[in-house]
Amino acid sequence: MAEKRARLLIVDDESQIRDVLHDFLSQSYDCVALNSGEDALALLSTESFDVIISDITMARMSGLEMVPHILNLSPETVIIMISGRRTIEFAIDAMRAGAFDYITKPFDLSEVDAAVRRALDQGQLFRDKLTRVSGNDENSVKQLRRAVDNEEFVVYYQPQVDIESGNIVGAEALVRWKHPELGLLAPADFILLAEETGLIVPIGAWVLRMACAQARKWREAGLLGFRIAVNVSPRQLQQGNLRETIVQTLNETELEPDCLELELTETSMMQNAESEVEILTSLREMGLKIAIDDFGTGYSSLGYLKNLPIDSVKLDQSFVKSATTDPDDAALVMAIVTLAHNLRLKVIAEGIETEDQLKFLRLLRCDRGQGYLFGKPAPADPIEETRHARYLPEARYVWSYSLPPT
Ligand code: C2E
Ligand code: MG
Ligand code: MG
Repeated sequence: MAEKRARLLIVDDESQIRDVLHDFLSQSYDCVALNSGEDALALLSTESFDVIISDITMARMSGLEMVPHILNLSPETVIIMISGRRTIEFAIDAMRAGAFDYITKPFDLSEVDAAVRRALDQGQLFRDKLTRVSGNDENSVKQLRRAVDNEEFVVYYQPQVDIESGNIVGAEALVRWKHPELGLLAPADFILLAEETGLIVPIGAWVLRMACAQARKWREAGLLGFRIAVNVSPRQLQQGNLRETIVQTLNETELEPDCLELELTETSMMQNAESEVEILTSLREMGLKIAIDDFGTGYSSLGYLKNLPIDSVKLDQSFVKSATTDPDDAALVMAIVTLAHNLRLKVIAEGIETEDQLKFLRLLRCDRGQGYLFGKPAPADPIEETRHARYLPEARYVWSYSLPPT
């Protein structure tokens, strides 16, 4: 007997995109295509779908507005958003609200294919986790509190490479939750809840301590000029004693301040009150480095960069992803790198996955790179073991990346 085909609902008010998606996906799935969020919700009240692919901006009910209704009407449906570069923040908000994934325009059909497959493979597991963990109910808050008390977290590290020399010059610390029942959870599953409940403050302090201690170990093992990057949430910055926490942690772990880089997102930088800018300024005076994370995804003008106490910008992965395929994005990346350099800021490119992307960024004299090409985030131990390995295309962890000849 033939296997049951998955059912897909495509929602987009741009008829061309809708038709292309419908034609392409109908080769493998049973598809229905509609042109508004309202029509989609009407259909969902009587029919069920495995996956919904929806445009984020639409005239009659946006994709973002649809998410909570879909979760209500049809909790088993997995949602993928389609967003433009300018509306990427909405797509991220939709993911926070419960969407599974997003695709940015312009996309090619292989990306759509991969996203749908992922949604069908892992979407259900994701939905289970979502309802069990990030539904801001009493139980999930209790679980997260318990996790803080029991230190149910682990820090993964992702190498950062000097694009010119190919040397490993640092690593970003990325937290994971070792959930006793659900297994290893990514930040997307719990950071928002941690922010909302304020639990990000103790979690962030714990990550900082682990990361600094690890950086100290690596320096002792001979990695010189090595810097550890730690994400700082707006909540930690607002809370006031960030400076004291950092000073104490550096003392306890005996790490030099210039080996620590703090990453704050563009949006949280923009929200900053004067007192918060002062904290960052004083940390910089101590020798710490400050970077703007996910740069380019906010709506801010570039002019504000010159007024902030920062050392570098981390170019968001969405730009890196499309820079080698879309000339407009390539031009944008070029402009950002030039502007940042003129303001004496370093540029770190995130999400480098291919040699082509690396070549392009190297041509622009982008300073540092991070991405799956060099190594995925991993626990400290396996990274430690392969610290001296040379880059092989199939190697997972790379601590000495030899660049291809120019
Ligand atoms: P981020 O700081 O922008 O971190 C980069 C994210 O991109 C990581 O996701 C990393 O695994 C992923 N990434 C790196 N290279 C590639 C690549 O080549 N391709 C693709 N597709 N992805 C890549 P992760 O670990 O899931 O973290 C997600 C976000 O959670 C982080 O984004 C950061 O905003 C937040 N986060 C992680 N750890 C912490 C923490 O300790 N404190 C706070 N406040 N936030 C954290
Ligand atoms: Mg970061
Ligand atoms: Mg980032």
